Amino acid sequence: MRIPRFEYFRPSSIDEVCSLLYKYRGEAKVLAGGTDLFVKMKKKEILPKVVISLNGIQKLDRIECDEKDGLKIGPLVTHDAIVNHPFVREKFDFLSETCFKIGTRQVRNMGTLVGNLCNASPSSDASAPLLVLETKLKLVHLYGERTIPLQEFFIGPFQTVLDPQEIVVEVQIPKPAPHTAGSYQYLHKASSVGETLVGAAVLLTIDPRNSTCQEARIGLSSVASTPIRAKAAERTLKGKRLEEKIIREAAQVAMDETQPRSRSLYRREMTRVLVERAILRAMEKIR
Ligand SMILES: Cc1cc2nc3c(=O)[nH]c(=O)nc-3n(C[C@H](O)[C@H](O)[C@H](O)COP(=O)(O)OP(=O)(O)OC[C@H]3O[C@@H](n4cnc5c(N)ncnc54)[C@H](O)[C@@H]3O)c2cc1C
Repeated sequence: MRIPRFEYFRPSSIDEVCSLLYKYRGEAKVLAGGTDLFVKMKKKEILPKVVISLNGIQKLDRIECDEKDGLKIGPLVTHDAIVNHPFVREKFDFLSETCFKIGTRQVRNMGTLVGNLCNASPSSDASAPLLVLETKLKLVHLYGERTIPLQEFFIGPFQTVLDPQEIVVEVQIPKPAPHTAGSYQYLHKASSVGETLVGAAVLLTIDPRNSTCQEARIGLSSVASTPIRAKAAERTLKGKRLEEKIIREAAQVAMDETQPRSRSLYRREMTRVLVERAILRAMEKIR
């Protein structure tokens, strides 16, 4: 399990990171917390010749919050920082609850939100809540930058649209509308790392005048080759009063939108259960 030799860089600016990524095209990997990267290197699943740490760059561990614009999360913000941040806990409670679920205390202290997304595991816990929050990612490379919706980021198991010369420098989460609440419900494997078997995030906005559902977003992880939005199930809820029959129907539709790669029957059935549970929990929070 020894990690083979590699060259290590600890630059002090994003520009330097981009120059190094350009220089070592395809042979370099970016390092944040290392909780995914080093495990894969130990297992020899990836063997980069060069590792470029972001840890020498100042201010990348910042969370910026704005009542109007929402949240901006830097690439070195750990799960633990999100769990303990007062603004995030208050306005994005289910995101902090999700980060608290991730790994052990040691993993939450080292592992970053951005690393979790860039690893692009189909079972990533952060993905489903961030999908329903309509998160965007700012990507930078040597010659420019682009901002893309998280939904366009994942393209396959452990694959993203990131070019090998690009890095994620910011997670942008808009502030949810009034009368909105979210919930993340999950089931994990009975293993030491507790990898998520099914994750379901729901974000609802309810019109207080007539109790109808103005906005419904459903994100699922571990039930397809990438984390997904269950758009048909969302349409089932929108514009309706959220009564038992509609909630059941939406959960059933969400189940039909999944394409699990293994333990299919169980994962599909649990999707139905967890989506229903997440809808009810989000409604409870709005009330
Ligand atoms: C014991 C254990 C338990 C775990 N439990 C969970 C769990 O319950 N739920 C869960 O979702 N995950 C879990 N994980 C996985 C892991 O901890 C998380 O995915 C973590 O958030 C990864 O972040 P990191 O900073 O450690 O990423 P790193 O390992 O540093 O990087 C991960 C990948 O992202 C790339 N990368 C990192 N930052 C950037 C960037 N800014 N731009 C471009 N590429 C970048 C790296 O090159 C690498 O390919 C667990 C891991 C362990 C070891």
